[in-house]
Amino acid sequence: MVHPLIQLAKEQYYLGSHLTHSLLTSRTNAHDNEFKTEADRLLNNIDEFPHAFVLACLMDTSVDADVAWAIPYKVKQALGSFEINDLYKVSRDEYIDMFNGEKKWHRYPARNAGFFFEAVQKIVENTFLNRDASRIWAGKPDAQDVILRFLDFKGCGFKIANMAPNLLYRYYGVEFSDYSSIDIAPDIHTIRVFQRLGLTPYAEDHEATRIYTICAARDLNPDFPGIVDGLCWEVGRNYCNPRSPKCNECPFTDFCRKQVVRKQNIWDKQD
Ligand code: SF4
Repeated sequence: MVHPLIQLAKEQYYLGSHLTHSLLTSRTNAHDNEFKTEADRLLNNIDEFPHAFVLACLMDTSVDADVAWAIPYKVKQALGSFEINDLYKVSRDEYIDMFNGEKKWHRYPARNAGFFFEAVQKIVENTFLNRDASRIWAGKPDAQDVILRFLDFKGCGFKIANMAPNLLYRYYGVEFSDYSSIDIAPDIHTIRVFQRLGLTPYAEDHEATRIYTICAARDLNPDFPGIVDGLCWEVGRNYCNPRSPKCNECPFTDFCRKQVVRKQNIWDKQD
């Protein structure tokens, strides 16, 4: 029997399901509307600027996603261009100065400026990529190849490497020949949601909770374990707050273990 979480994900998180969605959410007021529109335009133009997607992915650690996904457009504003050849002319120190501006672009500006610089160097100098980042996912490859190519970028770990093909599939309609290597990309939101759904045990060790989440997602849907990633991330971010979850509004309320236990407790008290 298909778990209701998988059913929901398959109905809402299929190939190209988020083509009209913005990778920059409107949850924060960190940017004005014009900035968001232009930043989105850059991220959505994956044919002309595929490196914007790769570079934004690499920024998406240790900060809110909105902070990370705004960085490519901030670079474009600073340089007046996002052509890969123009990005390539910028030195590591110049990127560090940009990231370290009056208002810092990232929690770890120097480190991430370095990741940005190194990635641009790789996209230009790597003979396979040859200045075109879309070669990472072109030609309907096995998703495993895409994951391994992302992992070869400095600053890319398990989470980003698995998040990237998942976003390409949903937001850009990029197809792969096999999806079984795309794991869930566990973060504070997905880990908490899996625990509250009763899919994974609570544990003090953070690494253990990550592995529990990955294994549970593989058990639920071996053909595409990461299909639940975006759905659980959104529920974790928008409903399943650590202290005051909005269970009445949550799309998981009918099958959430936390809810079941709560309802059982209500009846227990009345016995
Ligand atoms: S029903 Fe409540 S506890 Fe369960 S996932 Fe939703 S918000 Fe979280």
